[in-house]
Amino acid sequence: MAKKLTQIAIYGKGGIGKSTTTSNLTAALSKMGFKVMQFGCDPKSDSTNTLRSGQYIPTVLDTLREKGSVKASDVIFEGFNGIYCVEAGGPQPGVGCAGRGIISSVELFKQQHVFEELDLDYVIYDVLGDVVCGGFATPIREGIAEHVFTVSSSDFMSVYASNNLFKGIKKYSNTGGALLGGVIGNSVTEKYSRDILDDFAERTKTQIMEYVPRSITVTQSELQGKTTIEAAPDSEQASVYRRLAQRIVDHHESSVPSPMEQDELRKWAASWSDQLLELESGVVIGGNRAGI
Ligand code: ADP
Ligand code: MG
Repeated sequence: MAKKLTQIAIYGKGGIGKSTTTSNLTAALSKMGFKVMQFGCDPKSDSTNTLRSGQYIPTVLDTLREKGSVKASDVIFEGFNGIYCVEAGGPQPGVGCAGRGIISSVELFKQQHVFEELDLDYVIYDVLGDVVCGGFATPIREGIAEHVFTVSSSDFMSVYASNNLFKGIKKYSNTGGALLGGVIGNSVTEKYSRDILDDFAERTKTQIMEYVPRSITVTQSELQGKTTIEAAPDSEQASVYRRLAQRIVDHHESSVPSPMEQDELRKWAASWSDQLLELESGVVIGGNRAGI
């Protein structure tokens, strides 16, 4: 009997740590014995680099432009521990729709029944999250992904991008779109960052999957062109990524989030700003929630 394929999309603001988190997640899943594909959907095309010793791979769009037609096997490359790596790619700078790579790649893989033939357990899409153009919504809109996760720090711009993503998920939820699994906190080291993210998750009716700390082990591993799972499997950071992977394996029910309206989000942020000021000046002890 064919296995059940689970497709997951990971979104978040540019530079927030999506590719780092996704690659460590796929590396951890593959070490648990699952067959995994990492599908980079950022026009930067660097999603899978740390699974392949820092090397870029030819993208689906580049190969299409070059050859006119593409066999799936031309654009699937093997990475760490047998992970299948794909990069959708982007248009030439300044030309065309940046989401084109995702649309073309998903279409191509569907036509060639790639996922069924590879008998995969997980496909993880690493998608840009702050440009909510139609192309980037593909994994959500078409219900390709079953679960969506957002990578976020406690910085306002990052929370803002996550809140926008939640609006997109909500919009497509009545027409068979993907649902939200939760927030993966990244670079969450201080207690106040945890509190801010906890509060955001509570407000928007979702959950935190894991708090990933900022860590020099990640930097070191990246400089070697590797994930932390590969370069430092015995580190504390690697066990955080393994815990995240286990939580994702155990996750089955996603839901429709309750994004904040623009005004509400502004007020929410301002209340946290007041609270942090009080914390800094020592007026209150940490851990209080913004009381609005
Ligand atoms: P994105 O894919 O969201 O654009 P990346 O995964 O490429 O972001 O991460 C951007 C930079 O931040 C990279 O240099 C990466 O090594 C670093 N980074 C991400 N997460 C962490 C972390 N938890 N600790 C230390 N550095 C991190
Ligand atoms: Mg990236």
